[in-house]
Amino acid sequence: MRTPVIAANWKMNTTIPEANNLVSQMKYKLNLMENIEIIICPPFISLSVIKELLKGTSIETGAQNMYSEKEGAYTGEISPQMLRGLCEYVILGHSERRFYFSENDDIVNKKIKSALMYDLKPILCIGESLIEKESNKTEEILSEQLDKGLHEIANNKDLIIAYEPLWAIGTGMAANGEEANITIKFIRDKMAQLWNKTTSDALRILYGGSVKSNNIIEFVSKPDIDGVLVGGASLKAKEFLNIANQIDNYQQ
Ligand code: PEP
Repeated sequence: MRTPVIAANWKMNTTIPEANNLVSQMKYKLNLMENIEIIICPPFISLSVIKELLKGTSIETGAQNMYSEKEGAYTGEISPQMLRGLCEYVILGHSERRFYFSENDDIVNKKIKSALMYDLKPILCIGESLIEKESNKTEEILSEQLDKGLHEIANNKDLIIAYEPLWAIGTGMAANGEEANITIKFIRDKMAQLWNKTTSDALRILYGGSVKSNNIIEFVSKPDIDGVLVGGASLKAKEFLNIANQIDNYQQ
């Protein structure tokens, strides 16, 4: 049995008071949901405020990125050492980081290794572009992202993989649940080759891309999809609660 996950990626949204307000609106209801693991990933500057606000609840936090070095002359960067204690998870390899900040699989690989060294659980994002999908390259692209991103990384059940097709992120064009399940099954099989079947069966693999309250069941009702990474819809308290509630109830 894999515990389903709902992770909120707030991206570059919310000031500290807005972040505080958003979590305050949701935390009591989210904390009553016993069948799901909930991870809130606000901007760095709000992590400590939110961690404090969530004290005594089962809701966890995640960073949206980090640098791979422990400390030093890397102006503007945040290290895994700094994140320790502020969050349990860290999103790595998000397509927006790959696209806008030229992060490649080697950089992502260094970051994953470093996160694990500091006991942060990585949420590794992978996904294909529309052109790659249309030229039937999805499996090739995902395989490469996993081979390179997880190079020299040993079996680790704490890793979460988020399958986020680029064409579905922030576009309102969510993937079809059946197709997403087939692709996620492919990722699971690939992980069985890369690591082993026991670990791959235990890994949580999420879908992400335009998830909303009106399509969530299409994803979480599929056997290989273990939850969702939610971007835009996680910024609206009512909508996010609705999505989380549906997952929580679906599992019962
Ligand atoms: C994301 O940023 O990871 C994401 C899935 O965004 P959205 O839900 O807005 O498509």
